[in-house]
Amino acid sequence: MELVDPHGRTVRDLRISVTDRCNFRCTYCMPEEGMVWLEKSHILTFEEIERVARICVEHFHVDSLRLTGGEPTVRAHLPVLIDKLAALRVPSDATSPRAGKAPDLALTTNGSTLRNNAAELRGAGLERINISLDSLQREKFERMTRRDEFENVLEGIRAAQAAGFDPVKVNAVIERGVNDDEIVALAEFGREHAVEVRFIEFMPLDASDEWERNKVVSQDEIVSAIAAVYPLRQLAARGAAPADRWEYEDGRGTVGVIPSVTKPFCGDCDRVRLTSDGQFRTCLFATNEFDVRALLRNGASDDDITDLIRRAVGTKWAGHQIGHVTFVKPRRTMSQIGG
Ligand code: SAM
Ligand code: SF4
Repeated sequence: MELVDPHGRTVRDLRISVTDRCNFRCTYCMPEEGMVWLEKSHILTFEEIERVARICVEHFHVDSLRLTGGEPTVRAHLPVLIDKLAALRVPSDATSPRAGKAPDLALTTNGSTLRNNAAELRGAGLERINISLDSLQREKFERMTRRDEFENVLEGIRAAQAAGFDPVKVNAVIERGVNDDEIVALAEFGREHAVEVRFIEFMPLDASDEWERNKVVSQDEIVSAIAAVYPLRQLAARGAAPADRWEYEDGRGTVGVIPSVTKPFCGDCDRVRLTSDGQFRTCLFATNEFDVRALLRNGASDDDITDLIRRAVGTKWAGHQIGHVTFVKPRRTMSQIGG
């Protein structure tokens, strides 16, 4: 049975955070010090994650799973979880193009460990990968992530390509006055290395509360900067995917922008989220959560869990209110929710 929210959108995509921990401290996400981690005992086990994912896939015909965090690759034995999720099957009577097959399985990572594990992740059944890279200048990369891992991330991108991920996507959050001078250089990196760069508008989910509207570089600004050097042609509407996409007129690849702030795509949103401590959320910006972990650990039946998920989805709002006086920042930040 499909899961339809009060605004008529069908849920198809579950984002699963596997940890709130991270080996980076990106300025737009975490503070330099003082992040308080969740207690280990509060984090869902692989079996618990698999159970919630199975219910979503088998009962609600969710056909897309994305693992995130924190940094998902710092969770020990991640390929074991991928292996379990790759064994799930979307029911053959689902209206999904994945009916009868495994759900689409993707990972968002900072890329720092991929040089060691890209092939293993691929072998376990991971289909798609997004790697974050916000600067091509070694020192600026270090300032933005507070870690000296630039070469390792570049090596990680190469390793992901060598392992057969195609296309590899590279996420770049653009912040005015920080890395907006690198928009064209990042686009060039994508063209030269055959990766799809996806620029992300800076969102008010940073732990340090430094987000300001004027630090957001808009989709229009990003696209104009690139098109001034490399003419672009917009591709067909994105459907439920968050990125608007363009192709280069000279045929050298594609580029995307995720305009969460200036052109929210809430009207087409098909996503729900499971935090690493087992809280079910219907939006990155939701201010309420539904405690699946309590059910998982109290002997609840699959029916109890489907009821909770249905109830949660019944509260999904039409869209976030960034920029409006009514906007309330969620209590948890990006790395705690799972970006
Ligand atoms: N650690 C992994 C990574 O960095 O790719 C996965 C988790 S991270 C929270 C997921 C994505 O959210 C990354 O592409 C990151 O750049 C992005 N992100 C983090 N904080 C953000 C913010 N305040 N605004 C926009 N994007 C943000
Ligand atoms: Fe870690 Fe990703 Fe947040 Fe950077 S954006 S601090 S890599 S969770």
